Amino acid sequence: MKTLTPKAFASSGFRIVPLPTNVAEEARQAAQSGAADHVVIEVDSANGYPCRHCLRWAQPGERVILFPYAAIPAGHPYSETGPIFVHAERCDRYDATREYPEDFRNGRALRAYDARYNMVDAEVVNEGEPEQVIAKLFQNPKTEFLDARSVTRGCFTFRICRA
Ligand SMILES: [Zn+2]
Repeated sequence: MKTLTPKAFASSGFRIVPLPTNVAEEARQAAQSGAADHVVIEVDSANGYPCRHCLRWAQPGERVILFPYAAIPAGHPYSETGPIFVHAERCDRYDATREYPEDFRNGRALRAYDARYNMVDAEVVNEGEPEQVIAKLFQNPKTEFLDARSVTRGCFTFRICRA
């Protein structure tokens, strides 16, 4: 991996896809109405509760909603629903979509999927250079998108598409 500098690839190669705003809003409404699978949590650590909508760590004193999200929809061999957090209060959707989110430069695994949601590859982001891992995974023409997940707990964090 030497040809493409992170900055050059960041400006041309990929697009960050945070959780859609309507999904975050629906989770907030479900939590308010007392849905059993939507739990409001008081944040007690500075890097344990990543908000999938603004793509920042929720901070102590803030509240988040924990709920299940189908990152890979039902009906496929790799279908997967798992727990994610969003801020309980309204937050701004991450909009620097051509830049890898700074809060998650470490501690993520990137899973590559093809257009039919089959997992075709996966790599752990090490040394804080996710752009190089993204470039490498997108060199496979079968790769349609990447999902960034927690390397420890496996939870979906955000999607990365080709630019
Ligand atoms: Zn947020």
